[in-house]
Amino acid sequence: MLLATTCPGCGRSGAAPCPSCVATMARSWPVPVPPSLDRCRALLDYDGAAREVVAQLKYRNARSPVGWLAEGVAGLVRPHEVEVVTWAPTTEVRRRRRGFDQAELLARRVGRHLGVPCRSLLARRPGPAQTGRSSAERHDGPSFVPTRRLDGLRIAVVDDVVTTGATLDAAGRALRAAGAVHLLGLAAAHPR
Ligand SMILES: [Zn+2]
Repeated sequence: MLLATTCPGCGRSGAAPCPSCVATMARSWPVPVPPSLDRCRALLDYDGAAREVVAQLKYRNARSPVGWLAEGVAGLVRPHEVEVVTWAPTTEVRRRRRGFDQAELLARRVGRHLGVPCRSLLARRPGPAQTGRSSAERHDGPSFVPTRRLDGLRIAVVDDVVTTGATLDAAGRALRAAGAVHLLGLAAAHPR
C-alpha cells in the first residue's frame, strides 16, 4: 500500500505542500549577495507555512516537499546560467545522524530540473554546526575545501536556508579558489 502524502504545512493528505498552504507563502525578499558570489536567490520568505515546509526537508517521507521546493528553486535559474549544481555540505556528524544531507537532496533535484549535473565539489572542514552558535561566532562561518579543479565553470551552490550568507560565502570562496568563474547561490528560503 502506498503511504498517503500529507502537507507539511497543515497535515492534510494530498499534495506536499497543499494549494491552500502554498497560497499563504510569500516569495523571498531579495537576498544580499555574499561577497564571494555573483548572484544569490531564494525561493520563499522563511515564515509561516514555508518554515514547516523547509523543516520537512530533514525527513525523507511522504511529507517531504523536496520535489516541490526543487522545482521552485530551479525556476530561479536563468537559461544557461550554470553548467553544474553543487551544495554546501552539512557537518559530518549531522549527515551521519540524519542519514543524508538535506542540501544535497535539494541540490540533486534542482540539477535534475535544470538538466545539468549535480556534483559533490566541496568538503567541509570539521567544526561546530551553525545552529546554536552566537551571531558573532556564526559570522566566522564554516569553511570548505574544493575537491577538484573547476576552471572556467559556472556553478550553482545550493543550501536549504540562507540567513547571514556566511555558509554560501564560504562555499563560494572555496569554489572560486578552484577556478570557478560564475557563482550563483540558491536557497529554498530566506528570513527577512
Ligand atoms: Zn497545507
